[in-house]
Amino acid sequence: MIVDNYNRVHNYLRVSLTDNCNLRCFYCMPEEDYVFTPASRLMQADEIEALAKKFVALGVTKIRLTGGEPLVRKDAADIIQRLGKLGLNLTLTTNATRLHEFVDTLKEANVRSLNISLDTLQSDKFNLITRRDQFKLVYDNIHLMLKNNFHVKVNMVVMKGLNETEINDFIEWTKQEPVHVRFIEFMPFTGNRWTSNKVFTWQEMLKVIEEKYSFIHLKNDVHDTAKAYMVPGHKGTFAVISTMTAPFCSGCNRIRLTADGKMKNCLFSKEETDLLSALRKGEDVTPLIHQSIHSKAKELGGQFTTDFKHLHAEDINNRSMITIGG
Ligand code: SAM
Ligand code: SF4
Repeated sequence: MIVDNYNRVHNYLRVSLTDNCNLRCFYCMPEEDYVFTPASRLMQADEIEALAKKFVALGVTKIRLTGGEPLVRKDAADIIQRLGKLGLNLTLTTNATRLHEFVDTLKEANVRSLNISLDTLQSDKFNLITRRDQFKLVYDNIHLMLKNNFHVKVNMVVMKGLNETEINDFIEWTKQEPVHVRFIEFMPFTGNRWTSNKVFTWQEMLKVIEEKYSFIHLKNDVHDTAKAYMVPGHKGTFAVISTMTAPFCSGCNRIRLTADGKMKNCLFSKEETDLLSALRKGEDVTPLIHQSIHSKAKELGGQFTTDFKHLHAEDINNRSMITIGG
């Protein structure tokens, strides 16, 4: 088992397949002309499989593929097929632009649930946020996945002054469609234009929803990073992810592996452990995994606290989100 100094058991691995992406969400990718890591420095499909097997042997039962955009990787289908054979809960976070090409692959690998990012239901605003004109494709692909009976969670990063006025439009969406919308507090990463006054807190989100809807609280699992709710009679549900104002660190069971093979014990950790180089040298990575987890901070990577009003994104020693794997 992978257990840290606070007795947290880590059984959930998030693997970034690439820092490449076909969208340019400003809060995730710092620069329009961002230079992607060359393929040779990324974990190859057999290396991802080998590392995943190590983690499974140590008790990991769930793997989420992420990125960058995991589905822009040329061998994404091969990787999904390989991991689908490991008998674990395999899932994916995606911007949905390529999902129509992957329906069968995902079904065959027994992927049943997907997290899809969509921050607005207005195509103009989508262009503004992602710097690409792909709203219709994303929206249509969400419906395609629903039609194919996937459990679809929609991640919306709520940013004050940008899209908080659309919260109830997303709730309205849950009336007719079984989408599970998750409203996420905006988080600071290197170069992502985060300022504390753009954080729309989970209490503010619930207040906006309360003005129009009555809703009930759904039961949470100890490892859940979201507080879940539903409007009675709606087909879908909604949740708030309060990383900034009320983090879920005490129940954290997550480990991250960046596309270049570095283990991060927390989304906000500054330390990284190079598993890929060790694997390529033929070394056993197990002691490295344990060492990394033993240095995991109690909360928020040890880099800030929930009192973030005076925080500057540059004060946090970390990568940009696109190079971590959200
Ligand atoms: N490309 C895929 C996608 O967009 O879903 C996967 C990678 S993306 C980095 C993973 C998730 O991180 C997305 O849901 C995205 O909205 C979220 N994310 C990125 N930057 C964020 C930030 N600054 N604050 C909160 N969530 C963020
Ligand atoms: Fe790409 Fe996802 Fe980041 Fe947007 S959030 S730039 S889709 S990796």
